[in-house]
Amino acid sequence: TAEPGSPYRVVLLGASGVGKTAFASIFAGAADSMDSDDCELCGDEVCEREIEVDGESATLTVLDTWDSETGIEWAQECPMQRGDAYLLLYSVTDRASFLRASELRIILRRFRPAQHTPIILVGNKCDLVRRREVSVSEGRACAAVFDCKFIETSAAMQHNIWEAFHGIVRQLRLRRDSK
Ligand code: GDP
Repeated sequence: TAEPGSPYRVVLLGASGVGKTAFASIFAGAADSMDSDDCELCGDEVCEREIEVDGESATLTVLDTWDSETGIEWAQECPMQRGDAYLLLYSVTDRASFLRASELRIILRRFRPAQHTPIILVGNKCDLVRRREVSVSEGRACAAVFDCKFIETSAAMQHNIWEAFHGIVRQLRLRRDSK
């Protein structure tokens, strides 16, 4: 329920090692060090930044906080940090992280009634072609079941990272405009 102009909170979630920190670093800007001007909320990494999407600026606060193991407690103990939107990451090279993304989606549904919360399922590390364990069509099918958008990315190649953030903003605006 963000007011127009107030920052949207975007939470990165996924198993450890899928690329959340890499995503947050790209968002923060390669030149900035992540720990320079970050505010500290609940002791986690936070980065706020204004980006332009479709000719309109939006302020996003990206939270790289949801550790796979502690995520459930985090959402209960720190309700102020609940996201307006979520990037649900897995690594295409790690089937366990893909299964974990499904579990997290189910947990998230309890906190966030489905239809109103933008979620994008993100298959990261698509540059690692030979180590791929999860196909594009599996990712797409999973997103269809979970009724969320889907994108494959490579933080290493900086491929589709901004498309993911822009996609979140577009969904947040659709939700805002339909109120
Ligand atoms: P986190 O635990 O989810 O925060 O994952 P990290 O961002 O720390 O990434 C884990 C490891 O995967 C690091 O060594 C990253 O450099 C690497 N990594 C992250 N994204 C990519 C990617 O798109 N492609 C490749 N090849 N490596 C990646």
